[in-house]
Amino acid sequence: MAEKRKGLRSKFSGKALLKRTEEAHQRINEYGKFGRFYTAPKGSSAPLKLWKCKEGEHIIDIIPFLAGPSHHQVREGEPTYLLDIWVHQKVGMDENDVVCLARNYNEACPICEYLNAKRMEKDLSEEAEDALGKLNPKRRCLYNVICYDSSREEDRGIQLWEVAHFLFEKKILSVARNPRGGGFVPFSSPDNGKSIYFEREGSGITNTQYLGHKFIERQSTITDELLGEAYILDELVNRLTYDEIKKMFLGGLAKPKKKAESGKAEQPDDIPEETNRIAQRLEAANQKEGQGKGRAPSIKPPSQRQKAGSGGGSRQRPAASQQQRPTGQGKRPAGRQGAAPGQRKRPVPTQRRKKP
Ligand SMILES: [Zn+2]
Repeated sequence: MAEKRKGLRSKFSGKALLKRTEEAHQRINEYGKFGRFYTAPKGSSAPLKLWKCKEGEHIIDIIPFLAGPSHHQVREGEPTYLLDIWVHQKVGMDENDVVCLARNYNEACPICEYLNAKRMEKDLSEEAEDALGKLNPKRRCLYNVICYDSSREEDRGIQLWEVAHFLFEKKILSVARNPRGGGFVPFSSPDNGKSIYFEREGSGITNTQYLGHKFIERQSTITDELLGEAYILDELVNRLTYDEIKKMFLGGLAKPKKKAESGKAEQPDDIPEETNRIAQRLEAANQKEGQGKGRAPSIKPPSQRQKAGSGGGSRQRPAASQQQRPTGQGKRPAGRQGAAPGQRKRPVPTQRRKKP
């Protein structure tokens, strides 16, 4: 028996295990492993830097980029600030997110075909209706963001943020629209953009709310270096073929088995709370704004604000004023007031964001 065990051990002593480790590392960013519809840029060994929007208050900048060849809404080389895309979520056994070929690219999508066929059937149970509803594509947005919640967050530089369209983009567009046809605030412009303040309440799928979105004066310069670091968001999208999606989807139908969510890409570190930081930034932004306009700023520091839900949420426009716009909305270039990087004379980047 001991002999047999010794024989087993010897099988692990060669280079085979090392090779397995190397192979596993090569597959680290493969689609399906993490379930997202986007992966690190081709040829990049660095994991995606993902921003996790936790409960509480946040201040972020949205950093624009020039659309790559795969952007479904914006011409290559044109500036934009987001990827606004329809995604089927939790598809198949591995519960992968899959970009919808029909909604985004006007091509045949096996999941949409399945949904349409099923809906032709009569007398579907409530449960079945519910399951079908979950398969509907959801509108998701990807952004390059810099988060100013803490010095550690800020030091991470540009991070990728995925969020539901109705939770953020829809709200920010309503804040960005100037009254009485006064156009939009080019909030993502590197030169005359704004920081965005908002609050997240709740962390579950059904109870999460984003509240109180407002623009505040930026305290940091968006340097050329940062602009260069922004992800070309459309290049991150893993666009599967019809057959690949079908295979993934049907595999899931055959064995509807729950799978524990594994570690997805690089998770942000746990950032220690630096609650004063947000208050300080708000105050500084207020002062800057106050100087410019010569009147008292309207933003209260967080300590004085009412509990969100009453104060924050009520700032939103009524829904009627921003009915569903066509997806083309996403085409709006970020800085239409001439914000193309490098074309304008800009202040020399300061060292403000570098910590000693
Ligand atoms: Zn679809």
